[in-house]
Amino acid sequence: MRVGIIALQHESNTFLAAPTTIEDFRACHLLEGEAIRAAYVDAHHEIGGFFAGLEAAGIESVPIFAAWAIPSGTIKAEAGQELGARMLAALAAAGPLDGLLVAPHGAAVCQAERDFDGHWLSLVRARVGAGLPIIGTLDPHANVSRRMVEACQALVAYRTNPHLDQRERGLEAAQLMDRTLRGEVWPELSAVLPPVAINIERQRTDSLPCRELYRLADTLVARPGMLSTSVMLGFPYADTPEMGSGFLAVSDKSRAAGQRCAGELAAYLWQRRDQFVGRLTSIENAVRQAAETPGTVGLLDMGDNVGGGSPADSTALFHAVSRAGLGPAFMCLYDPAAAAAAIAGGTGSRFHRRVGGKTDPATGEPFEARGVVASVHDGRFREDQPRHGGQTHYDMGPTAIVRTDNGHAIMLASRRMVPFSLAQLTSCGVDPAAFRVLIIKGVHAPVAAYEPACAALLRVDTPGATSADLRRFEYRHRRRPLFPLETDFEWSEGIEG
Ligand SMILES: [Zn+2]
Repeated sequence: MRVGIIALQHESNTFLAAPTTIEDFRACHLLEGEAIRAAYVDAHHEIGGFFAGLEAAGIESVPIFAAWAIPSGTIKAEAGQELGARMLAALAAAGPLDGLLVAPHGAAVCQAERDFDGHWLSLVRARVGAGLPIIGTLDPHANVSRRMVEACQALVAYRTNPHLDQRERGLEAAQLMDRTLRGEVWPELSAVLPPVAINIERQRTDSLPCRELYRLADTLVARPGMLSTSVMLGFPYADTPEMGSGFLAVSDKSRAAGQRCAGELAAYLWQRRDQFVGRLTSIENAVRQAAETPGTVGLLDMGDNVGGGSPADSTALFHAVSRAGLGPAFMCLYDPAAAAAAIAGGTGSRFHRRVGGKTDPATGEPFEARGVVASVHDGRFREDQPRHGGQTHYDMGPTAIVRTDNGHAIMLASRRMVPFSLAQLTSCGVDPAAFRVLIIKGVHAPVAAYEPACAALLRVDTPGATSADLRRFEYRHRRRPLFPLETDFEWSEGIEG
């Protein structure tokens, strides 16, 4: 038996002005054939799980195509076309296959195809025909479309946020493929997509209210004929008709049991939808709470959530902390020009420059940093623990640490980096415990790394392209009505009569 592996992963924030190009994929991962195995086989990533699961089942794995770019703007039309063409060419060259394991993210938007995951999965389905099993994984930040569901026999989403079970879900998909190819099961996929957007602030899976929702999903999967249930939290920064929550269920040979489970999950969410509305803490209140909390406090900058595509150069929170005289504080900024200037000056040189605040005026003025270049680095680091995103090797480009005269530390990076790992700091000689405040540009993705280092983590309602307050965005494509942007409507599709 031979099973192909195809991944095309992008979380597209359609509120960003700059589109995502093919170079952005090339700078992250744009791989074909055996290079995919080399990059992913040991990673805490679903593709690593695919390889491990197929090997354990004695099935030959055929890595075909894997593309991934850091979350950013809408994918350019030409880039979408090139990705599709390269994928199909690689698929044609892969030889005869018995099945396909696929790894979409689920929230990719292209200028030419807003439902980009539905688009490329349908292309793959059309190429391999209706009889070949296609089984895949999804990021729970997917905005699930009917086309995605129709193209696949089964889709299994990660069950943790931060995403620490990516490899396990890849293994699960591979095991399902093995059982399917042995004729033991024939998976059928059902979806119910209730008109509810779960606020990002509420999306931590081991806290309420999500914890109970996942518990129900675990209960339902134990029913006869059920193979898998998935909770889709949704990605609110992709302005598409599919934006919002969703429930997927995989059942054996018939959709009936799965449809019922997905409907029950959707009904549960609909009935408790008020619990999934964000509880938002202003910058002012967050700074006050941080001042009252002893130890190191992590302030999560929800508006500049790099893992949701934000520019990583907002200064709003840092200005507020600095104005309040709270410190010492640490912040990482994407500012290649400032990093280059600091590196040119060299370790020990004086530094005086306005840093950050270059992309979106609403997220704060540049910060006037006056101090000393403490150290310069190549920006590469390694993380061996399971972390959100599942990568092992990271590269934030040439990086400098500036110690300001008033005691803060600012990391200036040349590439945008999601704060997945404390090795980002320690590899540059920065000890997180030495700070009163760590400004962390994320919401849940940083938790696995930062929670052990912080006495408290506070999620802050900051402005930006990933603001937790969806009323700040002008949507043109989303469905209406959609709770909580609209509240005065009824919905009953998923509720059993
Ligand atoms: Zn995600």
